[in-house]
Parts: sequence; C-alpha cells; structure tokens
Amino acid sequence: MDDSLIAPGQVWLVGAGPGDPELLTRKAERLIAAASVVFHDALVGPGVLDLIPPHVRRVSVGKRSGRHSKDQDEIGRLLVEAAVAGERVVRLKGGDPSIFGRSAEELAALREHGIPVRICPGITAASAAAASAGISLTLRGTARRLVFATAHARKGDVLDLDWRTLADPEATLAIYMGKAQAGAIARQLLAAGMAPDTPVLLAENASLAGERLLATRLDLLPLTASVALGDGPAVILVGRTISASAAEKIESCRDFQYFSV
Ligand code: SAH
Repeated sequence: MDDSLIAPGQVWLVGAGPGDPELLTRKAERLIAAASVVFHDALVGPGVLDLIPPHVRRVSVGKRSGRHSKDQDEIGRLLVEAAVAGERVVRLKGGDPSIFGRSAEELAALREHGIPVRICPGITAASAAAASAGISLTLRGTARRLVFATAHARKGDVLDLDWRTLADPEATLAIYMGKAQAGAIARQLLAAGMAPDTPVLLAENASLAGERLLATRLDLLPLTASVALGDGPAVILVGRTISASAAEKIESCRDFQYFSV
C-alpha cells in the first residue's frame, strides 16, 4: 500500500476507463490501493471494482442503483464529509472523469470547502470503442474533427443540439448516452443534410465481457439501436472514418435495410 499518494483529507477523481481493468492507468491502480474509501459509479467495471482491497470502504453512488440525478449534490456532500473526516478519498468514475462525468460539480463542491482535489485521467468510451473496432477516430483528409456530444435529455425535454454543426461530413461524432435517443439523432442529422449512408458504429459494453460492435448506417441507426442493442452502456460513432473498419468481430447491421419499411 502506498499511503503517500493520497494525503488524509485529500480527494482524487479517478478515471476507471471503459470497464476492462487492463485499461486502467497504473496511477489509477495505485490510487485505488492507497485509498481508505472509494466512491464509485454504476458504470465502473466489475474487474476494476475487484482491485479495491478488502480493507478499503466501498460506496456505490451510481445513478443506476435507483437514485435520481439530483443526488449529485448528495455525492458532493459525501465526498466533502469523507475528506473532512481525514479519509484518503478516491472518487472512481467510468471512462475519463472530464467527459460527461459530472466532475465539474464535484470539483466545485470540494473546492468550496477548501479540500485539495486532483484528477487522474482515464480512457474514454469512444477511444475504447474505436480500439475494439480497429479503427481510427480521425482520418487525414476525411475526418478532421472529432466531436464528443451527449444526447442525454431530461425526461420530456427535446434534444437541443446544434445539428447543423454536427452534420459535418468531415467530422467523426462520438455520441454518449444516445441509445434512447437514436431515432431523434438520426432524424436530426439527416434533416441537417448528413448522407443517409454515413457509416455508424454502435459499441455496447466496449472492453467488457458482453462487448458488441454493430456496424450500420445513419438511416438504419434507429432500427439497429432498437432491435440489436441490449441494455449495456453504448456509444454511437458516426462518420466516414468508421467505414475504414475491417475488424472481424464487427456485426454488420447494414442488411437491416431489407427489413425496414
Ligand atoms: N466519463 C465516461 C462517460 C460517462 S457518460 C467516459 O469517459 O467514457 C455514460 C455514457 O458513456 C454511456 O451512456 C455510454 O454512452 C458511454 N459508455 C461508458 N462506458 C461504456 C462502455 N464500456 N461501452 C460503451 N459505451 C460506454
């Protein structure tokens, strides 16, 4: 155990990566071993949680465990309390803490109380998906921009994104939390002028045991998402560079067009 890595009363926001414990940074692994308490999300992979030593207190603060998003304040409070009590705190977050990870709220809560906080980056879901599929997210001359976007909308809200900017044929879109909104995403991108045959890769449970990689096209995205995806986390990659993929483990859903009405 390396106690010096985290001082008592200090908090580290640590990226747990996409799920496979082999994709953790060495620093993240050392931080987990040096903590006295670990607060983790529901999306942190089981293999990563297995690395938490038995003597380290483990607290699940996952939204998937039936909590509501207003609990973000509560998470901030728990982190502050633990730090004030002199614990060595690790806040373990899926992927990279700085990408759709609500880390800004937690940093603000901790800084407001004068608590020292540092960040250990992690591999984000889009990088893991591209790696599993054997593709590059950028491509010289074809995909000059990489856009991280979230399609998460509160219940009842319409998806309010700048679709004209997103429908850029020279961009690769990595859309997080987009599964439930796959229909709206495809409709809006098509309406903004994106080609119907733009390649799409749906990556579910990237880097985890239940990983699935589904190749489809923009106009078939809603059908593919609703028919072929399970209930694991999924990231949607859209763009010309996706078609450069040749990995064997990719299932092709392009044939869905024969079933579409
Ligand atoms: N901070 C995380 C993202 C959190 S938002 C990161 O950097 O990856 C949660 C969303 O991330 C999920 O809805 C899904 O879109 C994506 N995601 C997280 N883990 C994933 C995985 N193993 N496979 C596919 N998508 C994943």
